[in-house]
Amino acid sequence: MSKILVIAEHLHGKLNPATARAVSAASAVKPEAIDVLVLADQVDAVAAEAAKVDGVTRVLTVARVENAHPLAAVLAPQVAKAAQGYSHVFAPSTTFGKDLAPRVAALLGVAQVSDVMSVEGAHTFKRPIYAGNAIVTVEADAAHTVVATIRTASWSAAGNGSSPAPIEPLSIDVALPSHTRFVGLQQGSSDRPDLQSASKVVSGGRGVGSKENFDIIYTFADKIGAAVGASRAAVDAGYCPNEMQVGQTGKIIAPELYMAIGISGAIQHLTGIKDAGTIVAINKDAEAPIFEIADIGLVGDLFKILPELEASLG
Ligand code: FAD
Repeated sequence: MSKILVIAEHLHGKLNPATARAVSAASAVKPEAIDVLVLADQVDAVAAEAAKVDGVTRVLTVARVENAHPLAAVLAPQVAKAAQGYSHVFAPSTTFGKDLAPRVAALLGVAQVSDVMSVEGAHTFKRPIYAGNAIVTVEADAAHTVVATIRTASWSAAGNGSSPAPIEPLSIDVALPSHTRFVGLQQGSSDRPDLQSASKVVSGGRGVGSKENFDIIYTFADKIGAAVGASRAAVDAGYCPNEMQVGQTGKIIAPELYMAIGISGAIQHLTGIKDAGTIVAINKDAEAPIFEIADIGLVGDLFKILPELEASLG
């Protein structure tokens, strides 16, 4: 029978919703237990949130001053040690999980399964390859611990209606590396919704034309309460910071509404929005590939259409 350890992602005392998505994937394995591991300096608030996630058997906490910042090099040996007795270790396929899980897999001497999008069996998973152009079914060795990252866009977050799971402190005796230390965190500050968890996203591409012009995207997004994304061409041209990039080498997102404005629809961009609900495209080129996947397509100049749309919203 499987026992799964899900690594909690959190920042500033708040649980990242990606964790509840990883719990959903863990539930699909139909395991005997799903424990969530919280590594932090102050664990209480995050553990309390994790305990409320449906399907969680126990929340295990490791409170150490070294865990004040999510340094993969510091967390990995603790996770590898905590993984003893578990058949699976799951982490969300976010920057955090992609940084941590390979180190855990290496310490356990196993190959990692990346970007799990569906569970076919306890050791059989589907994952995208070739920038999402093909889906491959992979089978992990049942004799070893499965270390996997979970493609968050493919899983809805587990709810939190049931009574809270017990929270238990865990003592892990493991030497931590001193070669990696926290220097600082540079984070874009924005009052807008978080790109990876927003239900609505408005993205601008090279067609927007300049950093100044990007204001039209921000204004429209604010009007409908959306997060703002961008194509790589827009990021490379300096129109917006790279944390806004959506796609194969940016963020993989699954909003209910995705608006691609002045974006041609290159395959590397589409990879990032495969799981979006309704896709709306505004492009002046009626032949642009984005229209092949858009649910609603508006052919025309974005500088004319967007203000019209905004005005019609009142
Ligand atoms: P373009 O392709 O130049 O399209 C601009 C569009 O704007 C055109 O369709 C044009 O008709 C339209 N337009 C222009 N003016 C207007 C106007 N006034 N009104 C309306 N429409 C207008 N790309 C990503 O986005 N994300 C990634 O993660 C990513 N990863 C990559 C990884 C690799 C390994 C490689 C090789 C490429 C990657 N790319 C990625 C780049 C990708 O191939 C495209 O180059 C990029 O997505 C193009 O961005 P774009 O659509 O904004 O620009």
